[in-house]
Amino acid sequence: MAAVAMAPLFFLGTAVCTLIIPSRLGWTWFPPWIGFAAVGAATLGLILMGVRIALFARRIERSDGFLCLNCHYDLHGLPDEGDCPECGEAYERTRLERLWSIWLQDHTKNR
Ligand SMILES: [Zn+2]
Repeated sequence: MAAVAMAPLFFLGTAVCTLIIPSRLGWTWFPPWIGFAAVGAATLGLILMGVRIALFARRIERSDGFLCLNCHYDLHGLPDEGDCPECGEAYERTRLERLWSIWLQDHTKNR
């Protein structure tokens, strides 16, 4: 969300960097659209990254934090302790719930 809120600032910075500075330096060869294309691509990348994090956070919440730390396999229906059937990583339910809770707090709160 922060990236979206800062988009006007990105475009203002891009306008200064691609329109004003090159003309002051006499860079007639510098096409101004390159800066806007780069900022547009970076903005799109940030938005897609945010969507990906939101989708993964929803997956963690739906599984109540009972996902393998290594391969993110949903461990529902399995004992509270054991080895992940997908990758063989040892797991313990309470530890996974605590660690995924920290991940959610770090990646989804205050954004
Ligand atoms: Zn696994």
